[in-house]
Amino acid sequence: MTHKITLIPGDGIGLEVSTAAKRCVEATGVKIEWEEALAGSVALEKTGELLPKSTLDSIRKNKVALKGPIITPVGEGFRSVNVGIRQALGLYACVRPAKTYPGVKSLYKDIDLVIIRENSEDLYAGIEFEAGRPATKNLIQEIEKYSKKEIRPDSGISIKPISKAASARIVRFAFEYALKCKRKKVTLVHKANIMKFTDGLFLKTGREVAKDYAGKVIFNEAIVDNMAMQLVQKPHLYDVLVLPNLYGDILSDLCAGLIGGLGIAPGANIGDNLAVFEAVHGSAPKYQGLNKVNPTAMILSAVLMLEYLKEEKAARQLENAVKAVIAEGLQVTYDFKSDPNDPDAVGTREMAEAIIKKLK
Ligand code: NAD
Repeated sequence: MTHKITLIPGDGIGLEVSTAAKRCVEATGVKIEWEEALAGSVALEKTGELLPKSTLDSIRKNKVALKGPIITPVGEGFRSVNVGIRQALGLYACVRPAKTYPGVKSLYKDIDLVIIRENSEDLYAGIEFEAGRPATKNLIQEIEKYSKKEIRPDSGISIKPISKAASARIVRFAFEYALKCKRKKVTLVHKANIMKFTDGLFLKTGREVAKDYAGKVIFNEAIVDNMAMQLVQKPHLYDVLVLPNLYGDILSDLCAGLIGGLGIAPGANIGDNLAVFEAVHGSAPKYQGLNKVNPTAMILSAVLMLEYLKEEKAARQLENAVKAVIAEGLQVTYDFKSDPNDPDAVGTREMAEAIIKKLK
């Protein structure tokens, strides 16, 4: 069977890492017809839009996409294209496995945990009010009226919506994922002690959902700041973590740090009938065009894609090839080396080639 997949190369290092991943997937022998679609600065140049409708239509039609990272300028007028794709397509669950492979530089061995991040709401909902604007001043007055609390008049405001429906959906997703992947424990992460009506609702709803899985999957809870420390000190205690959007984003980078860095951390954004696979890392613009960065995160995202496509054999072959190249430590990029300027480090293309050779 031939799978039709949307390929979004992305910005910065996106083209280099997505080309590497595409070549590795093709080398597994799985038949794929790629449909290239634009998003980010390349799309802006060619179409005048950061996220053209044709790109979203391509993903809707093909149901699966492999996507390179896309730049989001800080503090400027437009929203993140990455968040835009997730929201427009209803990709409510972000799945980010964090696993150590022998040969990586990391504080720990044998880490194998999975972050399940709620993708559709929280402070990422994009409901923001700029300081000084008339609407913001009105909003501040209204909030002061209802909350009886003072807000400085020169404040900007970001809204954090957390709903019962989206909380139940993501916690159920986490439990179903745990059952499917034969994992033992789901830990819900929150800050309900401070944010009673948002994180508090996430926690209360999560506890209700957890009752349906009693006896099948262990459920426990942790406050996010404590969780950050626990992950650094005792990562082996954790299995599947389910978190609201912002904490999920931050702790996935922390977990990437535990397993050897962003160059190795893959991800998937899953909706009811659609999925977009992408690395945890961003577009690392300073490395663009240098054939330097690690393609592993993007290749392992493609492994997750192969699993999703039920191409289990090819997924295992590709993961094992990545594992073998990392374990040998010869054809690997600078970030695997103790000295980042090690002259023996190879480039993005060469590491991908070495992985392809291991498939044969
Ligand atoms: P980044 O992940 O792009 O890079 C941070 C650092 O991590 C890099 O300087 C580099 O040292 C390291 N790194 C990242 N990817 C690597 C790789 N493949 N190999 C080796 N080292 C790697 O984060 P940033 O600099 O904060 O963000 C740059 C841009 O990317 C921003 O515009 C941001 O909004 C965007 N971003 C996009 C996504 C996405 O597309 N899903 C995710 C995160 C950030």
